[in-house]
This record gives sequence, C-alpha cells and structure tokens, in this order.
Amino acid sequence: MSMIEFHDVQKYYGDYHALRNINLTIDAGETVVLIGPSGSGKSTLIRTINGLERIEEGQLIVNGQDLANKKTDMNRIRKNVGMVFQHFNLYANKTILENIMLAPRIVLKKDEAANKKLAMDLLDRVGLADQASKMPAQLSGGQQQRIAIARSLAMEPKALLFDEPTSALDPEMIDDVLNVMKDIARDSSMTMLVVTHEMGFAREVANRVIFMADGQILEDDSKETFFDGQ
Ligand code: ADP
Ligand code: ADP
Repeated sequence: MSMIEFHDVQKYYGDYHALRNINLTIDAGETVVLIGPSGSGKSTLIRTINGLERIEEGQLIVNGQDLANKKTDMNRIRKNVGMVFQHFNLYANKTILENIMLAPRIVLKKDEAANKKLAMDLLDRVGLADQASKMPAQLSGGQQQRIAIARSLAMEPKALLFDEPTSALDPEMIDDVLNVMKDIARDSSMTMLVVTHEMGFAREVANRVIFMADGQILEDDSKETFFDGQ
C-alpha cells in the first residue's frame, strides 16, 4: 500500500523552480533516506508532504488524500504524518511530560490516564523516563531531540518525516538520536522519510536512498544498489 505518491509535482518559490517534476512513491513501512547538496530541495520536498509548503502543479497523495484538493483536511494529514525538525521546537514553558501529552489531549481528545501511560512508555523508549518533570532548557540538544521524536510518536502517526534531525547537535549526542530513529525504523509498520547526511543510518536501516540535486530526483536506488553499485 502506498503512503506517499508524487505525480509530476512542481513547486515554485516565485520564479524559482524548487521541485522539478517529482515522481515518487513510498510504500507503507518503508524507510527512505533523502540526500543531496544544500539547496537541492530536500527540505521543500518533505515539507510538501504535510502541507507546510503547497505544490503548484501535479498530484500529491498522502495516506490516500489528495493534497492539491482544497477540500483535503490538512489537520487529518498532520495527525497521520508527523515531522521532526532540525531545531526541536519543544514548548519551552511546559514540562517534558506535558510537551508529549499536549497534542494527543487536544487533537485526539485522548483519555488523560491512557495519554500519560503512552507518554511515559515513549519517554522510556527514548531513554528519558527520568526527565519527565524537567523543562526543555534543562536538557541537552540530543535529549531535546529525543523528546521531540517521542512527542511525534505520541500522535501514533502512520508516517514520520525527519528534516536533518541530527545536524544541529554536538557530535557526541548524535548516536543517541540515531539509535532512537533506528529503533523506529525497525518497527516495520512506520513509514519514515529522513533527510540526513548520516550514511551509517542509511546503511543500517534504510531500504532506499534517494539523491536530489537542483530540485530533481537524480537517483532512487535500493540500499544495496546505492552502497554496492549492484
Ligand atoms: P535543501 O533542503 O536541499 O537544502 P531547500 O528545500 O531548503 O533545500 O531549498 C531549496 C531551494 O529553495 C533553495 O535554493 C532555497 O533557498 C529555496 N527556498 C527554500 N525555501 C524557500 C522559501 N520559503 N522562499 C524562497 N525560496 C526558498
Ligand atoms: P533549515 O536549514 O534549518 O531548514 P533554512 O535556513 O533552510 O533552515 O530555512 C529556514 C526557513 O526559511 C524555512 O522556512 C525556509 O522555507 C525559508 N527559506 C529558505 N530559503 C529561503 C529563501 N531563499 N527565501 C525565503 N525563505 C527561505
């Protein structure tokens, strides 16, 4: 079953042609790594998937819904497709636990006890169960990013998009974040699209590697073909 489908998609910023004729299908459960030079359109591409950027031409179908259709409910798309940013964007004046519980409570109207249990389970999963009552500023960047991932998972999305999730981190924190992401990738039900320079991540858990340049997809290979040239 396909989770994300681009058909002849074009995206412009004014006169600048940022996505050039993108055709791409990502099936449910795939882990896809997107690489390419700075400015090649990677961030733009993943931001179109949850409607942070609009497309001008073509068709973009996410979880069975056509994003070009004005009637499409973007809130429903964002419930199903989470996003993790380079800068973690935690709510600075809320505790770690509250950061995770807020959206499920408001958007999903989740029962408070079940919400808290899931939040604590997720904190445990990202190795930060002992930090629940802290404020974001009390945590390191790597810890904050793991909280941001837990917060996305709390919405129980079908797909997660990652936009350079480790590039703002000090080197010694990168592995802790990558290990959490690898753990999610190995849970085969989650669809993941990851913009990253971390080739070790791609080698270990991706099934596909896509290379973009100048707003185009130039390579779309299985991991085996990409790394071994077979
Ligand atoms: P990447 O993620 O590969 O670095 P981006 O998708 O961020 O690339 O950017 C692709 C190109 O589009 C770049 O030239 C960038 O400057 C431009 N761009 C990105 N966002 C905007 C915007 N909101 N307005 C105008 N140009 C933009
Ligand atoms: P990051 O690398 O953290 O994603 P960027 O500097 O690429 O941050 O972009 C930050 C914001 O500025 C994004 O919302 C992006 O769309 C916008 N942006 C990027 N390039 C341009 C540009 N050339 N003109 C206008 N906005 C841009």
